[in-house]
Amino acid sequence: MKTAVYPGSFDPITLGHLNIIKRASRIFDKVYVCVAVNSAKKPHFTLEERADFVGRVTKKYGNVEVTTCDGLLVEYARSLGANFIVKGLRAVSDFEMEFQIALLNKKLAPEIETVFLTADEKYTYLSSTIAREMATYNADISKVVPREIAADVLERLCVQKKD
Ligand code: ADP
Repeated sequence: MKTAVYPGSFDPITLGHLNIIKRASRIFDKVYVCVAVNSAKKPHFTLEERADFVGRVTKKYGNVEVTTCDGLLVEYARSLGANFIVKGLRAVSDFEMEFQIALLNKKLAPEIETVFLTADEKYTYLSSTIAREMATYNADISKVVPREIAADVLERLCVQKKD
């Protein structure tokens, strides 16, 4: 059984992330989308909100499950019995960091392979930061985040702006 973990901040999930999830769900028997706490980043949405958004837009994929994790990714992957880590690559700028992380993870857990999926050309420019930025200017974010969550993402960011 090929089990993969797709980790990220998903702050919020974008169409670029969803494209990777959809493709990974065709490659692997089971995909855990792991919404990470990531102490280095200060997320705009809570862990619960981010996981809720991911859950709502991935429920149509029978072999995809949303989880949250805090701590070392390879340990978490092991606890799930996952033998693959999936990453999306948008540009050369993603590569350097991701390459370093993949090598480190390989040292820590030689049995786990990191698999890179190249971003769909439609979404190479897309990041959660861009989605949040667009929301700030009241732009139509359904072009960058899944339709099902666009209104909620916008509303919650507006509430935060008022606070
Ligand atoms: P970001 O880099 O936007 O803050 P995450 O930390 O949530 O996003 O990224 C999780 C994973 O998804 C990483 O492997 C990242 O390279 C990948 N990813 C992010 N945006 C895209 C996109 N538009 N297309 C493909 N992969 C992406």
